[in-house]
Amino acid sequence: MLALEGKVALVTGGSRGIGRAVALELARRGAEVAVNYAHHAEAAQQVVAEIEALGRRAVALPADVGDAEQAAALVAAVLDACGRLDILVNNAGIVRDNLLLRMQESDWDAVLRVNLKGAFNTSKAAVRPMMRQHFGRIINISSVSGLMGQVGQANYAASKAGLIGLTKSMARELAARHITVNVVAPGFIMTDMTAALDESLRERLREFIPLGRFGTAEDVAGAVAFLASEEAAYITGVVLPVDGGLSM
Ligand code: NAP
Repeated sequence: MLALEGKVALVTGGSRGIGRAVALELARRGAEVAVNYAHHAEAAQQVVAEIEALGRRAVALPADVGDAEQAAALVAAVLDACGRLDILVNNAGIVRDNLLLRMQESDWDAVLRVNLKGAFNTSKAAVRPMMRQHFGRIINISSVSGLMGQVGQANYAASKAGLIGLTKSMARELAARHITVNVVAPGFIMTDMTAALDESLRERLREFIPLGRFGTAEDVAGAVAFLASEEAAYITGVVLPVDGGLSM
């Protein structure tokens, strides 16, 4: 029997990049997966098709997680389609990089709304069914930016540091209910989000990474799948960097 057989997972922003890799890895380990997306329905459908090809059930569900009503409806749709919710991966995220002096209020609001409030919205909706099940795994995708800060990322780093506080508070509140809440903090990972970096900047960034390479979405997915597993039952409130040693 596969480790996550019988479990239902919701991956926010599961249509591309890290979320896509997480959705596929959870499915490989036996889970049924709800793949949330905001804009790219075709990409989400493709992930669903890949999961179905693995012999697992999957469903694509649109929702802007920054909107509390849509986030609640998303969780309700998962319960409707799959009957339960065991694993919530708060992965949806955006960047609106700029130096503080040039950063617009709208850039600050947009990033905090999706990256931080989005995780609050979905978690709030997911916790009640998890409490009824006496089981839950919530994994929030933060970033090394939230640990170290980053030039041009005041909004993004604040949202990702905020996720760590949210995680630790939830971990304390929900421990007695057998719900664990943890953070995975990726470093530089090759996805659409980092594709815009020019090659010379990439080369300079690589020099700061002890393992000497950018990570892959699969590197992150393995860590998330571990925290979702039975082997991680006694781990809660931790921040696990997956960054090639960048943040140590
Ligand atoms: P990505 O390739 O840009 O994908 C972002 C995903 O989030 C997409 O599936 C997108 O859906 C979804 N999304 C965006 N806004 C949303 C919203 N309002 N509601 C629901 N879904 C939304 O990003 P990524 O690189 O895979 O990053 C995934 C997560 O890892 C993010 O939280 C990011 O901050 C974090 N992270 C990434 C890196 C990195 O180097 N890539 C490093 C550290 C942390 P649509 O396609 O439908 O728009």
